[in-house]
Amino acid sequence: MMSTYLKDYPDKDGFFGPYGGSYVPERLKAEMAKIAEAYCNIGRSFDFVSELRRIRRHFQGRPTPIHYCRNLSKALGGNIFLKREDLNHTGAHKINHCMGEVMLAKYMGKKKVIAETGAGQHGVAMATAAAYFGLPCDIYMGAVDVAKQHPNVVRMKILGANVIPVTAGQQTLKEAVDAAFEAYLQSPEDTLYCIGTVVGPHPFPMMVRDFQKVVGEEAREQYLEMMGELPDAVCACVGGGSNAIGIFCGFLDDPVKLYGVEPLGRGAKPGDNAASLTLGKPGILHGFKSYTLENPDGSAMPVYSVASGLDYQSVGPEHAWLKDQGRVDYVTADDKEAIEAFFRLSRTEGIIPALESSHAVAYAIRYVKEHPHGSILVNLSGRGDKDIDYVAERYGADHGVL
Ligand SMILES: *Cc1c(COP(=O)(O)O)cnc(C)c1O
Repeated sequence: MMSTYLKDYPDKDGFFGPYGGSYVPERLKAEMAKIAEAYCNIGRSFDFVSELRRIRRHFQGRPTPIHYCRNLSKALGGNIFLKREDLNHTGAHKINHCMGEVMLAKYMGKKKVIAETGAGQHGVAMATAAAYFGLPCDIYMGAVDVAKQHPNVVRMKILGANVIPVTAGQQTLKEAVDAAFEAYLQSPEDTLYCIGTVVGPHPFPMMVRDFQKVVGEEAREQYLEMMGELPDAVCACVGGGSNAIGIFCGFLDDPVKLYGVEPLGRGAKPGDNAASLTLGKPGILHGFKSYTLENPDGSAMPVYSVASGLDYQSVGPEHAWLKDQGRVDYVTADDKEAIEAFFRLSRTEGIIPALESSHAVAYAIRYVKEHPHGSILVNLSGRGDKDIDYVAERYGADHGVL
């Protein structure tokens, strides 16, 4: 049974304790309020909910299964289970909130959707959702990322999206977010800016969470049916935090340990990781308050992870709150552990995980080593097909497993 947590948080102004809120220019404030209102009316109407449920089943392929990692568990001692979000259409959990956001845009009568993308995963999911609903879609992407993520750029274009390279600053995700915000400011009446994770001003952290919580609801029921009890622990990687909050939502009221796994990259030195909750401090970036990685002068610090979907200077405000409340433990896995987990899962289970998800797998491996009879459910947020060329080039496709 869920308590009233999901109804109590965020409050009406979008706060999770001191975090979240809406720190945006006056003009956008009114727009954000309109989106919040539309979401509360349309997004919770019978027609919207039933259409979304039909889409999940017949277009996305939900419910996604839970897989018991028999070989890996046998080798390690504990029990590792995977919630297979990699089996969603487009290969990751992001389609869960993109279908919801674009459907809301459609119901609100918007003429176009706008989004930012880093590695291109959110861009591809958005382009897919926009094609499904027949809305034009502008994707802002740092010029460096456009060059690096060529296959995703091609996918977005094939799906009919307009990819706009951003040449300011470091030419990566942060600048893409700035440019998308800027474009949205020009015509907020006709467009909807669809944020890629549980960040940004209210109502986005709430909306994206609500669209992702299907993962946790399904997983809890499936796990109970499989095992007759709940897992000891649940873990998920944390970039902005959407796949993590999605699965955590199913277990917040249960005696289940929750672990969010942040990317430690090359190490704890500034610029070498993107572990906002572990190494950052409270601050405001992109219209909301949360833990952020900042330089001493208050500017956003450069961030790094082998998994480009995890490198962001901040994190969803609800995670900041759950950390301060002590409900979720935020831990880290570095590049090396993630790469080892990537190969290990591929070879023992026949499942190639996304490098982002590999961080969660790495933590699960550590967990069962420390808890020999324990059980842990991992949110396998995405498949690794997008990462194979990079991994093969850097580590060799026949990289040895430790
Ligand atoms: C984008 C992405 C992530 C990180 O985003 P969250 O909002 O933290 O979930 C994780 N895994 C995959 C496969 C992704 O594409």
